[in-house]
Amino acid sequence: MKLYNLKDEAQVVDFETAVKTGLGRNQGLFFPKEIPTLSNIDELLELDVHQRNFQILKNFVSENIDDSSLKQIIDQTFAFPSQLEKVSENEFCLELFHGPTLAFKDFGANFMANCLKSFAEDKPITILTATSGDTGAAVAHAFHGLENIRVVILFPKGKISELQQKMFTTLGDNIHTIAVEGSFDDCQQLVKQSFDQTELVEKVGLNSANSINISRLLAQVCYYFDGFAQLPEEKREQVVVAVPSGNFGNLCAGIIAKTLGLPIKRFIASTNLNDTVPRYLQTGEWSPKETIATISNAMDVSKPNNWPRIEYLMETDQFDSNLLTGGAVNEEQTAETLKALYQQGYTSEPHAAVAYKGLHDSLQQDETGIFLGTAHPAKFKSTVEEILAIELPLPKALADCSEKKDLSHQTSADFGELAKFLYDLK
Ligand SMILES: *Cc1c(COP(=O)(O)O)cnc(C)c1O
Repeated sequence: MKLYNLKDEAQVVDFETAVKTGLGRNQGLFFPKEIPTLSNIDELLELDVHQRNFQILKNFVSENIDDSSLKQIIDQTFAFPSQLEKVSENEFCLELFHGPTLAFKDFGANFMANCLKSFAEDKPITILTATSGDTGAAVAHAFHGLENIRVVILFPKGKISELQQKMFTTLGDNIHTIAVEGSFDDCQQLVKQSFDQTELVEKVGLNSANSINISRLLAQVCYYFDGFAQLPEEKREQVVVAVPSGNFGNLCAGIIAKTLGLPIKRFIASTNLNDTVPRYLQTGEWSPKETIATISNAMDVSKPNNWPRIEYLMETDQFDSNLLTGGAVNEEQTAETLKALYQQGYTSEPHAAVAYKGLHDSLQQDETGIFLGTAHPAKFKSTVEEILAIELPLPKALADCSEKKDLSHQTSADFGELAKFLYDLK
C-alpha cells in the first residue's frame, strides 16, 4: 500500500520507505490515502490472534514484506497478550501492559524494530525519538543490541517517573539518552527540527521511532480487534472505546480499526489537563497552551503529533467526526477515579483512570465500554501507592533496572547542542 505525505500529496512512498524515514517533507506525516474495508470481520474475530494480525497487517505491508517474513515479525512482536479484564457489568479494561516494558508502547516499538530488521541494510541508522515517559523504554528495549542501529532518546528532565526513566537510561551500549531542560513538546520540536536538516539526516541516517512512524500505529490497530474479540458475543453490539490520549497515536490506531470495519460504535478521547483536542472538538479552535505537568505524565502533550491523521480521516469522510467526543480530566478527578476503580476491585494507574472517567461518565445503559489500560500500575508506583494508600510489589523488569546507574546526558532545549551530539555519535 502506498502512503502519502499529508502535507505534500506529491510525496508518495511505500511502507518500507515510510518506516525508514519516519517523517516526510515539511514535517508531513505519512498515511494511506484510503483505508481499505475488510469484508470478513466476523471471521477475523474468530481467528487466533497471530493469524488475525497477519490478515490485518498484510493489507498495509505486503508490497515490502513477504508472507513468511510477516508471520515471523508477528510472532516476535505479539509475544505477549492484550488482555480484556472486566471491571463492572458493562465496563472492561483492555490491558496493554503485559510486554517487556509494561506499557502499550511495546507493541509499536517491537513491530517497528522487527520491520527494520527485516529491511536490514549495511548503512547505520540513528533512531531519534522523544518520549513523554513510556516510548523511551519500549524503543530502547526493542532496539537494544541491534547491529547498525543507534538510538537517541530525548526526555523532559524531571518530568517523568523515576522508574519510567530508569527503564531506558540504564541500558547503555547503542542506547543514548538525553535529559532535556524543557517539556515533552520541546523534545518533540527538537526531533522535528532535526528532520528539517537534510545534511544531518543524511550524515547520521536519521529515523524516528515516535508515533509519527506509521509502523507503530499499524501494530496498535491489531489490539483493538483483539479486545473486541474477547468480549462476550452479546456485548458486541454497541461498543464504546475510551482512549487515554497524549500524542493521539493510540486513538488514531483505534479509528483505523473502525475504518477497516471493526464495528466500534463510538470513541471517547480522554485527556488530562493538557486538553487541546477536547477544547478543539468543542469549539473548533486549535489553541495549544503551555504543557502542564500531571500525574498521568505520559499524556502531558499539548501539541499532539498524530492529530492531522485523525483530522484527515474525518475530512475525507472515512470516519464520521460525530463518533468522537473528547473530555479533559483534572488531577483530583483522576485520583478519585483511581480510588473508585480500586473499590470495585481493580487496581489501575493514572492514565487508564483518565480514560475510565471519560467512559463511565458517558456510557449509556445499553452500551458496552472498553477503556485502554496503557501502563502497568507499578510503573507509577509512588503515585498509585500514595493515592490508594497501598503497597505495590515491583515487577521484575522494574526491580532489575531500579538498582542500575542512570547513564543519561543533559542538554538545554537548544537545537545546536543536539545537532552536535548527533554528529559526534560513533
Ligand atoms: C504514551 C502513553 C499514552 C498516550 O498515548 P498516545 O498514543 O500518545 O495518545 C497514554 N498512556 C500511557 C501510559 C502512555 O505511555
